[in-house]
Amino acid sequence: MTCHAAVVHSPLYACDIGLHVFPVTKYARVREALAGAGDIHDSEVLEPPHLTRDDLLLVHTEEYLDDLDQLRWTPRTMWSELPLHADVVRAYKVAAGGTVFASREARKRGLGVHIGGGFHHAFSDRAEGFCYINDLACAIRVLQRDGHVSRAAVVDLDVHQGNGTAGIFRGDDRVFTLSIHQEANYPVPKQRSTLDIGLENGTGDAEYLRRLEEALARVWEFQPEIVLYQAGADPFHDDLLGGLALSLAGLGQRDRLVLEGCAERSIPAVVTLGGGYARRVEDTIEAHLQTCRLALRLAREMAERRV
Ligand SMILES: [Zn+2]
Repeated sequence: MTCHAAVVHSPLYACDIGLHVFPVTKYARVREALAGAGDIHDSEVLEPPHLTRDDLLLVHTEEYLDDLDQLRWTPRTMWSELPLHADVVRAYKVAAGGTVFASREARKRGLGVHIGGGFHHAFSDRAEGFCYINDLACAIRVLQRDGHVSRAAVVDLDVHQGNGTAGIFRGDDRVFTLSIHQEANYPVPKQRSTLDIGLENGTGDAEYLRRLEEALARVWEFQPEIVLYQAGADPFHDDLLGGLALSLAGLGQRDRLVLEGCAERSIPAVVTLGGGYARRVEDTIEAHLQTCRLALRLAREMAERRV
């Protein structure tokens, strides 16, 4: 089956972070599962291109990038909750290239699927919460610089607020940042997104989807030229770092509201995987798989309509 969406991934994402709650092997497992089921041909998966320092400087500061390059443990890098090794830093830089690439391709094909990315806790000048480089922000800034888009939206549905992304784009009226998250969870304090929906502990499918529909109406009104979707799997009810109560089916409906909403409006959309720390890693992978499969199906339908 030909894959119409751009599917992007690098084996480098499986860097060694030691014994950790963040399952970095999930990316390769999602790719293998998609290829194994015939959703994609492995040979169609695109390798992220290298980002230049100028690209990264569109989002991050010189001092912070120097700390990363020199592997210096400073107040700018120490809140990553990750080791600071060369292969770890490289994984995050490559992932930023992956989201940039998936976004460029999404402008041509309608959809980009990055089996990676969604590192929304990285600020312009510091790391936080398992995130060194904010790939979502890099993608938007590179596309804007290159004249591919002016107005962009980030739809961040990870259980944790997209504080880094909100901080980076604060005061920029060309970028709409939506974050729907669990209010009583990391990060504390939160940053101000364009629209924040802080949900009560234990919020389930029906209430979540109702609030999401209302929020998306505001995104559609904004008329973005691209949507970066942070499709975190951690709103799942059995997540170790999340306290919401979505079912797998609820997460699937969530994905449909976002991605079908974009497709109906001909807005290019980019999937990034974001967080996911289910007690059983298979549940995290299943949630990511259903997001990717929906995107692939929508891309196929778009291509069929074009013929
Ligand atoms: Zn998260």
